[in-house]
Amino acid sequence: MFNLVFWAAGPLSRTADAHYFCQVWPYSQQIGVLSLKHWNQVSASTYPEFGDAIYNWNTSPTAAYFQYGDQYNWQVHSVNTDYGNTGWAGYTVVHGSCGSATDASVLLNDYFLVGYSYYARRHVEAHELGHALTLDHAPSGYASVMLASDYTYWAVAQHDIDDMNARYPR
Ligand SMILES: [Zn+2]
Repeated sequence: MFNLVFWAAGPLSRTADAHYFCQVWPYSQQIGVLSLKHWNQVSASTYPEFGDAIYNWNTSPTAAYFQYGDQYNWQVHSVNTDYGNTGWAGYTVVHGSCGSATDASVLLNDYFLVGYSYYARRHVEAHELGHALTLDHAPSGYASVMLASDYTYWAVAQHDIDDMNARYPR
């Protein structure tokens, strides 16, 4: 197992937009739900809106569904801490071989995010969760939470729904 793709969102986004990547979660179209066990270690007192970002994806008209998991049975692990002045506010890595994701980690950096507005935090959170779903950055000009350095969009947008439904048809 090795790291294939790194994504970041932050004031100094250091990650180039990848226009193509091969990782995708195993998915059954018959079920129509991309059910990912989510071990959520993000502090609910520091990030009370993180649950809203999860709910936003879970209630979107896509297959996305983050469900409760624990440390012994999880596919997406989200955690926050002060990672320092790294240049990124959020960072996601998806592990696995090409064509088959196995697990993903979402990191929220207190160093930047604690001082962000509610909506900027919602953008970073929904954006990183989008990467955990294996979504790529949206090209500039789209209304999308997957824009890398534009925090205008803080909730799942039509472009994001279209990308999810193209990747995980229901
Ligand atoms: Zn990103």
